[in-house]
Amino acid sequence: MARTIAYRRAHQDPAASGVEIEPRMIILHHTGGGSADATWRYFDRPTIESARKTIADAGDLNVSSQFLVDRDGTIFRLMPETSMARHCVGLNHVAIGVENVGDLDQHPLTDAQVEADAALVRHLKARFPAITHLIGHHEYLAMEGHPYFLERDPKYRTRKADPGPAFMTKVRARVADLGLEGPLVR
Ligand SMILES: [Zn+2]
Repeated sequence: MARTIAYRRAHQDPAASGVEIEPRMIILHHTGGGSADATWRYFDRPTIESARKTIADAGDLNVSSQFLVDRDGTIFRLMPETSMARHCVGLNHVAIGVENVGDLDQHPLTDAQVEADAALVRHLKARFPAITHLIGHHEYLAMEGHPYFLERDPKYRTRKADPGPAFMTKVRARVADLGLEGPLVR
């Protein structure tokens, strides 16, 4: 908790005093690995591994997400939706993160994950009507300039490829009726 508050003070708001967020968007990811167990062990420690230098330099709070979706579509809730996780530069204070076990090469995301993510997005939008956006992590830089985007360090940006446009197209097709916005189009 103290690390999360320290992260918020450094990156979002020097006066931050809590870890609560009001969800306004959902960001989908893939983990870059093949098992939910490995992801769980990776998340289940307070500090980031120092090998991830760009991220570690920006604060020692470990990466995290509120949800993890296994390859068979099983959804694990790892944190309350309204507690801040560290999963996306600039948007953690407004975004619920959904990690999917897999990658773009050896473990491509499954149809079961498409269905699970779509069902989860539908559930979250019903529970938090203030949610307006659904994006993939690879799209997040296009949110810079949107009022939601808040990062005090102008040099702290990471390049992301997850979960990729094909996965986002499939999930969006299943929740099109919700009217969620994507990244800003320039
Ligand atoms: Zn990601």
